[in-house]
Amino acid sequence: MATLENKNAKVVMKPGREKSIRNRHPWIFSGGIREVQGDYQPGDIVSVFDAKQRFLGKGFINRASQIRVRLLTFQDEDITADFFRTRLQQAIAHRQALLPPDTNAYRLIHSDGDGLSGLTVDRYGEWLVAQFHSAGVEQQKSLLTDLLSEITKTKGILERSDMKSRRAEGLETDNQSLNGAVPPAAEILENNLRFQVDLEKGQKTGFFLDQRENRQIIGNLSAGKRLLNCFSYSGGFSVYGAQQGAQTTSLDISKEAITLAKENFALNNLPTDNHQFISANAFEWLREMPETYDVIVLDPPAFVKAKQQVNKGARGYKDINRLAIAQVASGGLVLTCSCSSYISWDLFRKIIFSAAQEAGRTVQIIARPGQSFDHPINIYHPEGEYLKTFLLRVW
Ligand code: SAH
Repeated sequence: MATLENKNAKVVMKPGREKSIRNRHPWIFSGGIREVQGDYQPGDIVSVFDAKQRFLGKGFINRASQIRVRLLTFQDEDITADFFRTRLQQAIAHRQALLPPDTNAYRLIHSDGDGLSGLTVDRYGEWLVAQFHSAGVEQQKSLLTDLLSEITKTKGILERSDMKSRRAEGLETDNQSLNGAVPPAAEILENNLRFQVDLEKGQKTGFFLDQRENRQIIGNLSAGKRLLNCFSYSGGFSVYGAQQGAQTTSLDISKEAITLAKENFALNNLPTDNHQFISANAFEWLREMPETYDVIVLDPPAFVKAKQQVNKGARGYKDINRLAIAQVASGGLVLTCSCSSYISWDLFRKIIFSAAQEAGRTVQIIARPGQSFDHPINIYHPEGEYLKTFLLRVW
């Protein structure tokens, strides 16, 4: 089978800088590289050696990116179409083994978590939405698209490479149909609940699949309770709660998100007149909350998108958590989330500690679930563990 490698170029590390590679970390930053020998194009697959010319691994090289090489393998194996076919098949088998019943939307490929650095693919029923985050997967786009169609037998693939992070890889943003005529929206089933997903313009690829298991937890805990879903997007947590008989309030700054949330209530035959839908800034609204809630979900967007923003972002997390902890009913629950990869579990816990202390209430951590099973974390790549959540009981 034809090789996909550039055998004319190779990367040589500085002495002693191969340690993280030996620990199977998939990213090589420019600072550790002594030289790149030979010519290459952005995204080419090249071999990497230590300073004594011992083989370390193979991966995508990109001069434009801080992450100079994204390693695909630590073995001296041929990278051919079959290599990618096997990676995709393994990832898909993992989902098939663990997918809950009555669910047809899930993350099919989770970048470094599935050994395919830079590629994310979400499945929405008969459709796939793909994001190509690195020059390497960009160069292999047509092969990956063909393999995905062949293996999943879906009707079409939409590319949503509209992330700003593409610029850091020297790539333009790109939205296009790669295969088949993908409709602008699709209806999906998640744990037997129906959701309308805006494939073309929705946030992320249309739905926050990483919260599936947490939505179920909140649904189960909100029967007969007053549920406030802050940063609700298309109403996921609210629909789960309402289905169990909770009275819900969905709050999001985006009017489009609130419209989608109402549609999702209707889709599940949940009467919207029993539930509140508010388009407002959560920071302001929480300060003057008109009523008390038994369960509050805080699932804000990432407040920290770069290392330099950690302090400012931490203040944002503390503010909303202080307000929610102060306001929730005695014996009530707060599910608090951070999807910033720069906020570690430890730091997030410290932030909640300060928020609890300032609110002056008794707070217990009763669970700490993270991202759902279809967003696996490569143990050698801690950056992949981005979603941290604490379920708190407050007295
Ligand atoms: N919990 C959702 C996903 C939330 S995504 C789910 O399960 O699907 C974060 C949401 O926060 C986005 O919909 C965004 O519009 C909203 N948002 C961002 N800043 C906000 C603010 N200051 N106040 C209220 N909502 C905000």
